[in-house]
Amino acid sequence: MVTTIGMGVMTGVTKVKVKTCTGCKESLPISEFNKDRSRADGLRDRCRKCGSGQAKKYRNSEQGRNARQQYLKKYNISEHGRQVKSKYQKQYRGTPRGKEVERRGQLKYLYGLTPEQYQQMYLSQDGCCGICKEHRSEEERHFDIDCDPNTGEVRGLLCWKCNQMLGRYENGHNFKQELVDQFEEYIAVGVLKEE
Ligand SMILES: [Zn+2]
Ligand SMILES: [Zn+2]
Repeated sequence: MVTTIGMGVMTGVTKVKVKTCTGCKESLPISEFNKDRSRADGLRDRCRKCGSGQAKKYRNSEQGRNARQQYLKKYNISEHGRQVKSKYQKQYRGTPRGKEVERRGQLKYLYGLTPEQYQQMYLSQDGCCGICKEHRSEEERHFDIDCDPNTGEVRGLLCWKCNQMLGRYENGHNFKQELVDQFEEYIAVGVLKEE
C-alpha cells in the first residue's frame, strides 16, 4: 500500500510517496520498488534490494535453474531466439577467434588435419605451391589441400589454380590437345602471328 509522508522537515516539507517492503519491513520511497502491473498499486511487494536478493536465491536454487533451462530451450527454438542466435553466430564467425575455430573445424572435418599440421606442411614446402612453386605468405589466402581422390590421403598444399588443373589431369583431361586447340584458334582469328 502506498502512503504519502512528509520528509525533510528541517528544509521544508516535501511530500514523498512511500511503501512498506514485505522483505525488510522498511518504509521506502516508491522509487525503490520495481513496477508490477499485476499488483493493485502497480508496484512489487519487495523493494529492489530485497527483490534482487530473492531473485538471486531463486536463480541459484534447483527450481530456478530448471525454470531457466526450460525457458532457454523454448527461447532457442522460437523465431526470435533463432534470429538472435544466427546473428550472434554471424558476428562470431567474423571475429579472429571465430575464424580460427571455424577453420579448425573445417580442417578436421574435411581433411582430418589440425591447423598445426597444416602449418608444418606449409613450412616443409617453404610456403610455396607444390606444383608451380608460387610463394604465398601466411596472411594471404590459404593453400588448397591436395588429397588423393581415391584414398582421401593428404598429399600436400597447392595453389587454387594448380589444384584445379591437377583435378582435371587426374580425370584424364588432355591438356596438350586443349592448349594446341586454343593456340590454333587464337592464330586463326589473326591475333597471334604464326612464326
Ligand atoms: Zn526491502
Ligand atoms: Zn600452383
